Amino acid sequence: MGSESVYDYLIIGTGMAGLTVGALLASHGRKVLMLEAHDTPGGYAHTFAMGDYRFCAQVHYIFGCGPGGSVHDFLARVGLADTVSWNRLDPDGFDHVVVAGERFRIPSGFSSFRDRLLQRFPQDAQPLRAYFDTVIGIADELARVPLELRWHDLLAAPFRFPKLLRYRTWTLQRFYDHVHMPQRLQAVLAGQSGDYLLPPEQVSFVLHVSLIDNYGRGAYYPRKHFFHFIDSVVQKIREQPGCAVLLEHEVQRIVVEDGRVVGVETKNGQRFSARRYISNVDPAATLALAPDAGWPARYRKRLDYEYSCSTYTMYLGVKDLDLREHGFGSWNVWHYPHDDINRMYRDQLERHDLSNPWLFLATPTLHTDQPGIAPPGHQILEVATCCDYAHFRALRDRDRAAYTKEKLAIRDQIFAVLEANYVPGLRKHLAMRVAGTPLTNAEYCRSPMGNAYGTALTPLQLSRVDFETPIRNLFMVNATAGYPSIGGTVGSGMRLYDRLAADDP
Ligand SMILES: Cc1cc2nc3c(=O)[nH]c(=O)nc-3n(C[C@H](O)[C@H](O)[C@H](O)COP(=O)(O)OP(=O)(O)OC[C@H]3O[C@@H](n4cnc5c(N)ncnc54)[C@H](O)[C@@H]3O)c2cc1C
Repeated sequence: MGSESVYDYLIIGTGMAGLTVGALLASHGRKVLMLEAHDTPGGYAHTFAMGDYRFCAQVHYIFGCGPGGSVHDFLARVGLADTVSWNRLDPDGFDHVVVAGERFRIPSGFSSFRDRLLQRFPQDAQPLRAYFDTVIGIADELARVPLELRWHDLLAAPFRFPKLLRYRTWTLQRFYDHVHMPQRLQAVLAGQSGDYLLPPEQVSFVLHVSLIDNYGRGAYYPRKHFFHFIDSVVQKIREQPGCAVLLEHEVQRIVVEDGRVVGVETKNGQRFSARRYISNVDPAATLALAPDAGWPARYRKRLDYEYSCSTYTMYLGVKDLDLREHGFGSWNVWHYPHDDINRMYRDQLERHDLSNPWLFLATPTLHTDQPGIAPPGHQILEVATCCDYAHFRALRDRDRAAYTKEKLAIRDQIFAVLEANYVPGLRKHLAMRVAGTPLTNAEYCRSPMGNAYGTALTPLQLSRVDFETPIRNLFMVNATAGYPSIGGTVGSGMRLYDRLAADDP
């Protein structure tokens, strides 16, 4: 064993939830050690370099950056509010949803979106009004629900939170059917489905509302790109006395004795210890790091959850072409080839058919004028869609050449869709093209089964894994122990900090 150090807190992983709680603890005088397996911090929000380009691995736009939002409040609490600033995507249309060639611009605020759709679909006023009335009601209750539910909140719930109680077990599709929503509008209203990676027939209706409400309050991109945001937080931790962030330090064992963690061992043969431990690693994967901890059967069962699905991602460097002339700008584009989003997800996830996929298209170089991710005059286009981890895993384990062939075939199919619908001749303008499968997510971000958002966001999994564990000095925080997304994980990291600070003043 190598060096031994004693810290107040040891955090495994530098995903956004880990960085948030780490930065808060460090700025409040705790000695914090963070251990990260990868050579770059940030988890899904890390940035990697390819030639002259820098791509953020998975994060494209975030919420919670305005006053009262989680990211805004976190940065203020650690003294970074002036260092990290945000560009708001076009409030009049921060997401453009294109269904079978018809484009819909989603504006900030439910009432603007409702009025825009009522104008375009006057014959469907009834289901549209029913949808927006309910969505606004649920969003209003969500804003009032206490983060820590107490017994008197539960007693008052039928009066204070009637909609949350009524719809907590509903899927979005059940609500669509209930109000007889026409098919085209079903697709438009679920047009941001990739933000939770589930089709209407599976996503929790409450979760759908929470997500579109959050983005509707403001969708943001960091003015100096995601790497600057992450680097600023990491630097903040590193500059506090007695704190460190060590990269390429993969924890391979959490050592538990008499019901307490006494240290962790890394793959490179070092051992570190602290008073308290926080795992930013997926909860089930954390259990596997401490196989001898004697986890109670009930807890093991609690962590036997279903993961959200994974993604196929393309990172493209574009030259001698202005994407603004092809429908891109200060917004994302969601491409759906037809009206039936449920069928698209089934085709891609169950039949492994990506011949006509839905696509999420992001253009970070059009969200800020700051340099740093592409050569002058070049632009970046990022593309993502859903696909099945198990399929790619089996293919690569069986036949690596077949895996590569399929990866390239999907890439070419996506190019064909992009050229036919948005940018004719795109391939002639590509100075960089990189593709990632679910295995890329699993390998570089250590996400089990390449999952995008932790546990699948279905009604059955609406309640999240607790921060506390059966081991007294071990806590968890991430997309599953808390909420996914940058806004969600930052909020979770802040809540864990408040809980830790309460009994460790
Ligand atoms: C395709 C895609 C698109 C997305 N787009 C957006 C978006 O536009 N906006 C948004 O807000 N969110 C988006 N998300 C979701 C968001 O990125 C995640 O919810 C969030 O970043 C998860 O943070 P986390 O704290 O759970 O940690 P993670 O990002 O999962 O990071 C965990 C970290 O722990 C490290 N680790 C794991 N095991 C070990 C170990 N044994 N030892 C040491 N370190 C270890 C990993 O290397 C990693 O760095 C997207 C996700 C995907 C996949």
